[in-house]
Amino acid sequence: IIDLKHISKSFEDTQVLDDISMYIRRNEFLTLLGPSGCGKTTLLRIIGGFESATEGEVLFEGKNIGDLPPYKRKINTVFQKYALFPHMNVEDNISFGLQIKKMDKKLIQKKVYEMLELVNLKGYEKRSIDSLSGGQQQRIAIARALVNEPQVLLLDEPLGALDLKLRKGMQLELKKIQQKVGITFIYVTHDQEEALTMSDTIAIMNEGRVQQIGTPVDIYNEPKNAFVADFIGESN
Ligand code: ATP
Repeated sequence: IIDLKHISKSFEDTQVLDDISMYIRRNEFLTLLGPSGCGKTTLLRIIGGFESATEGEVLFEGKNIGDLPPYKRKINTVFQKYALFPHMNVEDNISFGLQIKKMDKKLIQKKVYEMLELVNLKGYEKRSIDSLSGGQQQRIAIARALVNEPQVLLLDEPLGALDLKLRKGMQLELKKIQQKVGITFIYVTHDQEEALTMSDTIAIMNEGRVQQIGTPVDIYNEPKNAFVADFIGESN
C-alpha cells in the first residue's frame, strides 16, 4: 500500500535519513525499531505528511503523495502524547473531525458507539477526558484516529507513557484492533520485545539507515550484522 523510494532527509547540514526504501503491504503490521535518534519519528512524519523528504518519494497505492497535506492522505497518526482536547468529552473528542465535515448526527453517534466498542470503552461517551486513566486516554486517541476510516495508521511510541503492566495488556489489544479493523499499522518503538511480539515485519534502523527488514523470527534467528544482533540481544 505504501512504497518508500530512496527517502533521505537532512535538517540543515545533518543527515537524519539516508536512502530508505521499503514496501509496506496492505494490512501489514510493520514496526520501525531502533535506538533513540536513529530517525524513526522523522520517517513516520514524512509518511504522514508532517515533514517532507529532502530526496525520494512516498507512493500510496502507486501514486506519489509527497505534495499532499496530512489531512488529504488516507493516513492518520497517533502520537505518544495523545493530544486529546481536554475541555471536550469522550464523544466530542472522537467525533470532532466528523462534526467539522458536517456528517449527520445520527451517523456520528453510531460511529462513536462502534469505536468505543472496538476499544473496549462502551458507555464512556459523556465522560470527561480528565476522568480517564492514561491507558483509557490512549484508547480514545486510537478511536479518534480510526473513526474516519484511514487505510494506514501511524503510531509513534503509543504506549511509551504507560506503565509496564498496562503496556503488555495494550500491546495485545492494539494487535487485536489492527486485525479486527483490517488496517495497515506502521508502529514506532525502541522496545525490542514489543516489536517482536506485535509485528508482522520489523525494520531495524540505525543512524538513518535500515539495517535489516524481515519477520520477527527471521530477525531473531538470523541477524544480518553485529548491530542487529546486539540490539535484539539486549531484550534478553
Ligand atoms: P526517539 O526514539 O528518541 O524519538 P527517533 O529514532 O524517533 O528517536 P528522530 O526523532 O527521527 O529519531 O530524530 C532523528 C535525528 O533527527 C535526531 O538527531 C534529531 O535531533 C534530529 N531532528 C529531528 N527533527 C529535527 C528538526 N526539526 N530539526 C533538526 N533536527 C531534527
